Amino acid sequence: MKVIIAGAGIGGLTAALSLQKIGVDVRLFESVSSIRSLGVGINVLPHATRELFALGLQAELDSFAIKTRAMKYFTRRGKEVISVPCGEYAGYKWPQYSLHRGEFQMMLLNAFKQRAGADKVICGHAISEFEQDEKGVKATFIDSKTKEVLSTETADLLIAADGLHSVVRKQLYPNEGRPVFSKIICYRGAVESTPYLDGESMIICGDNRLRLVSYPISETQRRQGNSHINWIASVPFESDTVGREDWAQQSRPDKLLELYRDWQFDWLNVPQLIQSAKEMFEFPVYDRDPLKRWTFDRVTLLGDAAHPLIPVSSSGAVHAIIDGRALAYALGSHDNPLDGLIAYEQDRLPKANRVVVASRNNGPDEVLEIVRRECDDADNIFDYVDRNVFQKVIDDFKELSGFGIDTLNNLDSYEI
Ligand SMILES: Cc1cc2nc3c(=O)[nH]c(=O)nc-3n(C[C@H](O)[C@H](O)[C@H](O)COP(=O)(O)OP(=O)(O)OC[C@H]3O[C@@H](n4cnc5c(N)ncnc54)[C@H](O)[C@@H]3O)c2cc1C
Repeated sequence: MKVIIAGAGIGGLTAALSLQKIGVDVRLFESVSSIRSLGVGINVLPHATRELFALGLQAELDSFAIKTRAMKYFTRRGKEVISVPCGEYAGYKWPQYSLHRGEFQMMLLNAFKQRAGADKVICGHAISEFEQDEKGVKATFIDSKTKEVLSTETADLLIAADGLHSVVRKQLYPNEGRPVFSKIICYRGAVESTPYLDGESMIICGDNRLRLVSYPISETQRRQGNSHINWIASVPFESDTVGREDWAQQSRPDKLLELYRDWQFDWLNVPQLIQSAKEMFEFPVYDRDPLKRWTFDRVTLLGDAAHPLIPVSSSGAVHAIIDGRALAYALGSHDNPLDGLIAYEQDRLPKANRVVVASRNNGPDEVLEIVRRECDDADNIFDYVDRNVFQKVIDDFKELSGFGIDTLNNLDSYEI
């Protein structure tokens, strides 16, 4: 079986590694001319970590990624609402990792090149269109800057892992229009500093009026007693549209410093954290309405191309990774590849769509909206809301997203 994957991001690379492992001849086409270590922090939750371990990547992950100890929720005045143990600290068989997205992408890329051969990754080739018939699928690749046609490639299957602006999705759904703007802008930066709290935990502070998420992303720095701290400031933006979402759009801290001026907790000085970032990026938050169908005969969607997620629940990379593994599992379990693609969709589409909807409704961060509604700025939150209410929000989201502790520990992975 010959498979073309369009897009060498987190989802495309995981799919490529998973397909290569079961003996599929897979080629990856990526639009950028060379893949560089871009982005800031992401989290990989245990239901995705276990799939990466099955691909033999545990030792490499351990070498550079932080094993996240806890996710700690705080009010905008820095008072703790709930601390949720993560990964092995919570009783999972697998850790949760906080890591640098670019380092992670390079790790996946190098692993794939070593296993499949460097010639299987073709950069500078953006998919522009495809056609298919009963014999196979034909994909056209162009130079994304000049639009010059570079090649036409044939295969049995085409997997579209070409991200939020998926060209393949646009061909399948020509009238879908632009992504849906969530009226939030995320500002992101990273700082090398002394650790806050235990140096291994993620914090989520504030609420939908103003939020700060932060976590350390370098195990190397942690071992040296330092911390490479990733932060994301989410600020409401009252307009229906804003510039095109672009992960590399640079920004300046001035507008944030005023907004976060009072966020000086005894355990973290937020304005100082923001000001210390050497580079800052701004990213308007978009997702898309869930689709009813990803698979069209020999073509299917994967990762953000299938189900872009707003970043409230650390789910974007997680579900792209799981898609990649589920795809290989489905293809390996069916004699007819077209049946495999249908099985992949039947397994993954309802699960991913549930997470899209739950993320729009704040996901686990709903705990902070409860505080805002029930006892905004109160000195003792627990006089107003029972701790179990917060725990239930967290537990319900874990089950919905596929990583309830007992559920996951007792579930088979996508290993064939
Ligand atoms: C440069 C970059 C930086 C990012 N930084 C962060 C971050 O800091 N934090 C965070 O939470 N998320 C970040 N993301 C998004 C995050 O990686 C994804 O939401 C998530 O991992 C899902 O992965 P994916 O593979 O579906 O999409 P992505 O990781 O976005 O990968 C999509 C890939 O497809 C390629 N592509 C696009 N169009 C075409 C085409 N026509 N033909 C071929 N290839 C194409 C892109 O260049 C990209 O490599 C970033 C994405 C990118 C591309």
